[in-house]
Formats: sequence, C-alpha cells, structure tokens
Amino acid sequence: MDQHISYGDDYKYIPAVSINSGVGVEVLPDLYCHTIQIVNICLVGKPETDFVLVDAGMPKSADKIITVTEDRFGANSRPKAIILTHGHFDHVGAIVELIDYWEVPVYAHRLELPFLTGKMSYPESDPSVEGGLIAKMSSMFPNEPVDLGNRIKALPDDGSLPGMFGWRWLHTPGHAPGHVSLFREADRSLIAGDAFVTVKQESLYKVMVQDKEIHGPPRYFTTDWEAAKESVQKLAALKPAVAVTGHGEPIYNEELFNGLEKLASEFDRVAVPDYGRYVNRKH
Ligand SMILES: [Zn+2]
Ligand SMILES: [Zn+2]
Repeated sequence: MDQHISYGDDYKYIPAVSINSGVGVEVLPDLYCHTIQIVNICLVGKPETDFVLVDAGMPKSADKIITVTEDRFGANSRPKAIILTHGHFDHVGAIVELIDYWEVPVYAHRLELPFLTGKMSYPESDPSVEGGLIAKMSSMFPNEPVDLGNRIKALPDDGSLPGMFGWRWLHTPGHAPGHVSLFREADRSLIAGDAFVTVKQESLYKVMVQDKEIHGPPRYFTTDWEAAKESVQKLAALKPAVAVTGHGEPIYNEELFNGLEKLASEFDRVAVPDYGRYVNRKH
C-alpha cells in the first residue's frame, strides 16, 4: 500500500525566472540539463536507454518536466529512478506529482531524509544575508518539508547510484546536511547540485541574465559554511572536466578548473557572506 505523500504547508509557485527558463542543453550524449525557471534538472542516460532524473524542479513544474522527458526519451517514457541532490523546495518542487505519475523510486542521502519525510523543516532562508534581490525575496521560499513517506529511500552506502552505472555519489554537506554531488570518473563529469553554482544566485539581475561565474552555494539557504568549504575543496580535488550545477549554465574545462580552484582556495573571502543569520565569522 502506498502512503499518502504531500508537500509542506508553505508549498507555492514562486514567480522567479531567468533567460534560460525552458532551455535544454545536451552537455554530453548521455547528460541532458534543462532549466526550470531558475533551477536545473538533469536527465542522465542516452535516448532509448534507461535513464534517471536528477532533481525535481520548481513548484508546479511537473507537466514541464514530463514533457521535457518525453521529448527526449519518447512518449510514455519514465526514468528508472529519481535522485535528489538535496531536498530544498527548488529541487523537489514537482516530486509528488512525478512519483504519482511515474511510480518510480526516489533516493537521497540518509541525512536528508528527515526533510523529505515530513519530520523536520529546513532552517528558514535568510533574507538578511549579503547578496541581492533573490536573497531578499527568499523569505517567501518554502522551507517546510515534503513528506514522501516510504517512497523515498536512502542512497546505497557503497556510493553507487541506482540506474546510473559508472557514477557515484559523494557527501557534500554545508548547503544542506545530506547534500550529495554525483561524479563519473571515466570522463570526470560532475553534477554538483548546490555545492557550488555557476551564477550569483542571490542576485536577481545575475539570475535573470544567467551571467556565468563560479560561486559558492546559494547563501540564503546555506547554514554550515565550514562544511560547505570542505565540500567545495573535495569537489575541486576531483578536477572535473564538466559540471552541471543546480543553478546557472554548464561549465567546462579551463573555465571550470580555474573557477573551482579559486573558489576552493579563497572560499572564506568569496563565498562566505560578510553578514547573515548563519554566518559566524572568526576574524
Ligand atoms: Zn539548495
Ligand atoms: Zn537550489
């Protein structure tokens, strides 16, 4: 018997857009990235093979995600599984409808499960954090947990990813306690979630025009900056050749390498905000 699954009580459509909203990019033959308003979803797998959906978009985007999926994989196609990098509202916005429609398993890190089973709310976003207009409007962002009941499972302890052969997950906490990034050693492809992003996500202007530059995790939701720094350093050490992040455009080779090195080595100065509720600067 399936349990009833539901969104948090503060679930709602968020009127935020970027010029890339509705745009899809084939990053690799088996890695497709599509922007839902201001957040990215990934479809991993070649057309006409098994595939997986990574993250579940903004609130009220289920129809769009199903259309994007069927455009790429064919009518009535469905992923083998949905993998969540973390459970923030902009990464689980369509999850309830998608589970109901596709009837596929969903996986997230064990430490993220309280936020995905209705047990624990995320800390409220911090509209006072240094950054810009998106940071200021973040007070309207939902933080109450979805309840996916027994439809969500913990990722396998051995680092493997169901339905994603050759990929493994790495625990990259800081932005969220159970945040994971996905890495494929063979071609050094990285799906980084919000561990770092390629747009200054706090700034409405930069989000709208998607001005590409590597940044630390979105500030209004990041609560543990020490862990966030260690996570970025862990990802930089992988020397990825291509990265898709939760927000912003895909980034490749030199631009990725240089940007990530700089972010890792100067994290305290460039990523950690000068002020904000979750900042505890040790000067
Ligand atoms: Zn997030
Ligand atoms: Zn996000």
